[in-house]
Amino acid sequence: MRKYLIAGNWKMNLVPGEAKKFAQELVNNLKKINDDVIAMIAPPFTALEGVGSIIKGSKIKLGAQNINDNEDGAFTGEISANMLLDLGVEYVIIGHSERRHIYNESNELINKKILKSLSKGLKPILCVGELLTEREAGKTENIIKEQVVKGLNGVGKDQMKNLAIAYEPVWAIGTGKVATPEQAEEVHLFIRNLIVELYDKNTASDLIIQYGGSVKPDNIDGLMAKENLDGALVGGASLKTDSFCRLVNFNK
Ligand code: PEP
Repeated sequence: MRKYLIAGNWKMNLVPGEAKKFAQELVNNLKKINDDVIAMIAPPFTALEGVGSIIKGSKIKLGAQNINDNEDGAFTGEISANMLLDLGVEYVIIGHSERRHIYNESNELINKKILKSLSKGLKPILCVGELLTEREAGKTENIIKEQVVKGLNGVGKDQMKNLAIAYEPVWAIGTGKVATPEQAEEVHLFIRNLIVELYDKNTASDLIIQYGGSVKPDNIDGLMAKENLDGALVGGASLKTDSFCRLVNFNK
């Protein structure tokens, strides 16, 4: 049975001291988490070490917000899989819409990052999602298909158990405009059926597909009630203790 993955993407927020304090509050407040829920937080790189030391031995997992696809070398400003692993990172968010649209990351680069992460034993979260203009033009499924197929190019069936997909409609990220549970379910089912085509039924049914885009305490329960929504990737609402804890402890 697949689990729910509730992940907080802290983006470029919190200096290390603030991040450690916040992580300690989360540890104190998340002593009990349902067995079928995985909680993960992805602080900025500068806070990974400090936050990692606070959450060690707790129920909260450590994630990173990006990775470089190369092993090491002359890549100024980048971070490698080995560097993340050394800090105890388990998950890595790849292809977030801010990386795709602000930093022009292509499906091909995202695929290289996915392959590198998997080869190193990190668990990638492949983010996909359409722009509002693409949705309005009826292109949602084409865009999602392209992002999933290209993002997973060369990923073996046995590696799929270490990977999650996050469906994050770009028009819903940080805008307060959440997709309705029905809109999200439609795309999640489309992705799951695509995984059946690309791999097989078991791989598809075991795959965690998170929803992301303005998830908040007052809408998470409705979203998680949908059959194909297996957790959330959360930006804004992951930055407050009460709100992130409520998301992790959503009502079923
Ligand atoms: C995100 O950054 O992945 C995200 C979904 O942000 P927000 O929850 O703030 O919309």
